[in-house]
Amino acid sequence: MAAVQRLLRSSSVAAAGRRRMATSLAPGQAPAAAPAFPFAGAERRRRPAHERNVQWVFLGCPGVGKGTYASRLSRLLGVPHIATGDLVRDELASTGPDAVQLKEIVNQGKLVSDEIIINLLSKRLKKGEEKGESGFILDGFPRTVNQAEILDGVTDIDMVVNLKLREDIIVQKCLGRRICGQCGKNFNLACIDVKAENGLPPIYMSPLLPPNNCMSKLLTRDDDTEEVVRNRLRIYNEMSQPVEDFYQKQGKVLEFDLPGGIPESWPKLLDVLNLEDQQEMKLAAA
Ligand code: ADP
Repeated sequence: MAAVQRLLRSSSVAAAGRRRMATSLAPGQAPAAAPAFPFAGAERRRRPAHERNVQWVFLGCPGVGKGTYASRLSRLLGVPHIATGDLVRDELASTGPDAVQLKEIVNQGKLVSDEIIINLLSKRLKKGEEKGESGFILDGFPRTVNQAEILDGVTDIDMVVNLKLREDIIVQKCLGRRICGQCGKNFNLACIDVKAENGLPPIYMSPLLPPNNCMSKLLTRDDDTEEVVRNRLRIYNEMSQPVEDFYQKQGKVLEFDLPGGIPESWPKLLDVLNLEDQQEMKLAAA
């Protein structure tokens, strides 16, 4: 994947000569200037869309369900689902030099610096490239305009899916999130049942309950407390809303208002994407 090489090269060129940037980006803080990841000399060749797998980006507030729908689509389309939040959590679980500092940033709901994120993403893409991966669905990246510009500098994004849900529901969903400490699967204990009001439609989302053997091993992410969730939403609106505008200007955004939980939303999403889930169709016909 030529794009991976370009991202890696830009990242390692930068690593050699740049000044060290702060580990986190405070709201309102000016993003790192683009030259922090220089592309001078980087190969500019881009593979046209028909010669490669899809290159999509999922946008949306924390907890909206990017991971759920991006991973389903990645299985359907046979492309990797790359979530930078997962890359950050893997780094936190390691004994790497940045782990302690990163934990503090993530647990406050702040963004990790563009430099660290680009390096984590580059490593992940390189590993995938070695395994013969092609295409991707990015989830949680780009989260700043600077990251979007860097990505644009190395590869073409075909489409940006922007998932939307009312903020009061997002908070409930985040507080209900659990992960099984053993198998790593994600669940949600929240039962969302909001009546129609002020012209907004009713919305029902059933909980995604774990099987019995996961029940006693459920963990809550340290950054899924109400205070941190609200902080993440505030930072999203400040730093990531402009990313939506960035892609809007390119005419690449597909806006998708989640109508409910997975049973209501998944078929509708497939419909607007003009895709079919053969597996689900087989199950429905059985
Ligand atoms: P969310 O539920 O907020 O979408 P994620 O799992 O995507 O959470 O990310 C968890 C944390 O990892 C974020 O709050 C942030 O600290 C860090 N992170 C993930 N992706 C990025 C990114 N692209 N830029 C900066 N920080 C990121």
